[in-house]
Amino acid sequence: MTDAVTPEDAVDRENQLRDNLRAVRERLQTACVAAGRAEDAVTLVAITKTFPISDVRALAALGVHDLGENREQELKVKAPDCQDVTWHFVGQLQSNKARSVVRCAAVVHSVDRSSLVKALSRAAVEEGKTLRCLLQVSLAAYGPAEAATGMTRGGVAPDDVPALAAEVAGADGLELGGVMAVAPLGSDPDEAFAGLESVASRLRSEHTGADWISAGMSGDLEAAIRHGATHVRLGRALLGTRPPLG
Ligand SMILES: *Cc1c(COP(=O)(O)O)cnc(C)c1O
Repeated sequence: MTDAVTPEDAVDRENQLRDNLRAVRERLQTACVAAGRAEDAVTLVAITKTFPISDVRALAALGVHDLGENREQELKVKAPDCQDVTWHFVGQLQSNKARSVVRCAAVVHSVDRSSLVKALSRAAVEEGKTLRCLLQVSLAAYGPAEAATGMTRGGVAPDDVPALAAEVAGADGLELGGVMAVAPLGSDPDEAFAGLESVASRLRSEHTGADWISAGMSGDLEAAIRHGATHVRLGRALLGTRPPLG
């Protein structure tokens, strides 16, 4: 492999991204219609992790205005280069990286503990920003395989959501936006996302503005849309197979 990208390669890639985006938008539209929801009820967040900055620019040029990353190191390289989009942070976040993420992102989908709420609040105040926070909810109860392998995708237990939500709602510089989840390996995504939907509606009954449900990835977006997702996070369906992590 060579790093050199010819102009022809760049045009091929742009065409591929345009085709993928068209297919994804059709898929989202079909899923919304099937679920009896408005076609504009769901926002596409393109997860660009592991893909080059040229892809980020190409997607922005194609009108994708919400982009996401799951690692602070990648976010801080890509975000300053592409400021005319809303950046979302969707990965596990260490408190000592909160400041850097707050500088780059408008939304953090993965708020899962009190210490992180404090770190994000302090950073947002220092940066003079209001950060929209989604609580990442653990759906481990729906994933037997996950429990067996010990591979957890993180998140706050559903029963602990109200207390964490109250902390975010009361924190300076933060705004409670709703919930996020990843369906566990081996789960039935409809069951998992139905569980998330009930956590979300309970949250909304106490915090009216917290109406986002970030759920659904390339493999399970239809199930997520059936269960009220307002934001789907798509990587592979848009950008193709990810290169192995180096
Ligand atoms: C990578 C990632 C996605 C996108 O997954 P795809 O299967 O590539 O669509 C969504 N959410 C999170 C938290 C991710 O890390």
